[in-house]
Amino acid sequence: MPELPEVETIVRDLAPRVAGSRLRTPQLHKTDVLRKVSRARLLRTTRGARVLELTRRAKHAVFVLDNGHRLVIQPRMTGSLLIYDRGLTAEERRYLVFDTRLDDGGRLAYRDVRRLGTIWLLDESGWKSYTARIGPEPLEPDFVPAQFREHMRGTRIAIKKALMDQRRLAGVGNIYANEALFRAGLDPSRPADRVGDDELDRLYDALRAVLGAAIDSKGTTFRDYRTGSGEPGAFQEVLAVYGRGGRPCVNCGRTLVSTHEIDGRATTFCYHCQE
Ligand SMILES: [Zn+2]
Repeated sequence: MPELPEVETIVRDLAPRVAGSRLRTPQLHKTDVLRKVSRARLLRTTRGARVLELTRRAKHAVFVLDNGHRLVIQPRMTGSLLIYDRGLTAEERRYLVFDTRLDDGGRLAYRDVRRLGTIWLLDESGWKSYTARIGPEPLEPDFVPAQFREHMRGTRIAIKKALMDQRRLAGVGNIYANEALFRAGLDPSRPADRVGDDELDRLYDALRAVLGAAIDSKGTTFRDYRTGSGEPGAFQEVLAVYGRGGRPCVNCGRTLVSTHEIDGRATTFCYHCQE
């Protein structure tokens, strides 16, 4: 978390103000989030650079700069990306990782309480090898069921793990894997290579539906996640299984079960509806 719908929401909220703007005064306050880039190079490369486009890839916000580089931020569990039109409070400054003035006077700020997130700076070839290691985007119009089946195949790992494997598929984490498997009526622990074509097609439809609905609700806020305008998302109100272990199944009324046996993460499902 945040997963595809949350990062997509942040990017959509920020893009109208960020795209076309220069990064006027980039400052880095914490360095342990940096990956494969030094503080000096990050600041040198981003200072004064114009953002051509702000997009999302998997769970990452991607700032495409006019100097051929991409600034890639993955906020993860305790991070937030916001534009402030006022000074930051002392509390807000405390967790500031990176910030910069934009052309319109707003301050783009990446804050991260536990600094689980990451910042990358990639040139064109670095970006190509980075994005090539990540699976296809499930909501792209050209992502068809046959492609989904192909990417889930050839492994005996649990179908839930396969869904969350970023090399197979981009952007899906624990929340939406749980929800999609419930909607598709599939046992999360089933080996991926034992899931039939019809079932995979059902899962494809369920996954795209749940991701789309979550974006419409501006994502799921369990703890720290906020949209690009600082608001919580609303999808937590309609989750069917995630975070609902011990409560009744919305479908059949039986008690939902939670286990950590599949991948060490909480898996919540209905024994009855997900045979
Ligand atoms: Zn049920």
